[in-house]
Amino acid sequence: MSVRICVPRETADGESRVALTPDGAKRLLSDDVSIAIETGAGRAAGFPDAAYEDVGVEVVADAGRLLGEADVVFKVAPPSGDEADGLREGVVLACLLRPHENAALIERLAGGGVTALALELVPRITRAQSMDALSSQSNLAGYKAVLLGANSLGRIFPLLMTAAGTLSPARVLVLGAGVAGLQAIATARRLGADTWGYDIRAAVREEVESLGAKFVDLDEGTGGAGGAAADAETEGGYAKALEEAEQARQRELLAQHVARADVVITTALVPGRRAPVLITDDMVDRMKVGSVVVDLAGEAGGNCSLSAPGETVVERGVTIHAPLNVPGSLPYHASQLLGRNLSALVKPMFGEDGVVVDLDDDVIGPCCVTHAGEVRFGA
Ligand code: NAD
Repeated sequence: MSVRICVPRETADGESRVALTPDGAKRLLSDDVSIAIETGAGRAAGFPDAAYEDVGVEVVADAGRLLGEADVVFKVAPPSGDEADGLREGVVLACLLRPHENAALIERLAGGGVTALALELVPRITRAQSMDALSSQSNLAGYKAVLLGANSLGRIFPLLMTAAGTLSPARVLVLGAGVAGLQAIATARRLGADTWGYDIRAAVREEVESLGAKFVDLDEGTGGAGGAAADAETEGGYAKALEEAEQARQRELLAQHVARADVVITTALVPGRRAPVLITDDMVDRMKVGSVVVDLAGEAGGNCSLSAPGETVVERGVTIHAPLNVPGSLPYHASQLLGRNLSALVKPMFGEDGVVVDLDDDVIGPCCVTHAGEVRFGA
């Protein structure tokens, strides 16, 4: 058998990541596996063409020829319509496909006979941990969010005792303690901030506390009406959406914690739905002048009602960042992890007769959105 993996240059606005690094390519290359990248594909992430050539990757200038020869295509962002049309029948495409937002693209890929694997749909089972791109990218986003917050704050994070007096530590509140939130908590702690975490999944308390942060318990003193619902978790480990009344109650109880914080980092997502609004206009009104919100849920509409996705706004003296594609701002490491996720997902599909798509596989089945002309997502 022989399998050819191709990696085009990303064309989406502002996308600086590449789907495979030279180091990742080196691990995949063998007598049976060849790899080609489009000229300049890794440059923005810090990987020049020569670094790929050094490990035996072919660098191809013609994107049409590259895709036309591929058995497998690794990408970061979903392909454009034209890129989708350039994929040949039977090819396996693996990328962050944003399946909930891309119904038309998915139809188009199915129409072209492409087998499309959406990294977002890789199940969170132990065997698939190395393939989990949502985690690898969220981890980096959580780290970067703290740096963004610290950079916009007119005070330092740690306690500082000087001859001129003592400076008290900044108070950082992280709302949503999943992968991004826990990394944000760990990073804020490393910088010395007085750090608090909150999530509707009560199971998270222990993880927050093990990082040396304090857990915001909305049930405390409310007779259990606070909304840190023990069952607000799905079987897949994700959060369930709260009813509007529950959400309002949650916001009311969170308001005083938000008002005391210097930096609030929000990461709350519910898969396939708009992100919940955790910080309302009124809550921003009550925040201290000079405080900062970093809203990592901008791509899903934002966790703060005043967030403008992709922008930074200053409202009533509070700086509100809602950056998009935060992992893309760390393209070197984001590409390194994403490339490993893609390799771990696709390598087990290589069989004696080439690439085998086993829809009964407990990872490939759930993340395969199109195959043999059929749309499988949402079916
Ligand atoms: P996510 O990105 O979907 O959401 C981020 C966080 O926001 C979650 O912790 C969620 O509970 C929280 N959230 C949602 N609505 C909220 C609200 N109204 N108020 C407060 N918080 C709210 O989640 P994620 O980071 O992808 O992780 C989800 C879970 O999956 C975590 O428990 C994580 O540890 C687990 N996980 C398991 C594996 C594995 O076993 N292979 C891999 C990765 C993650």
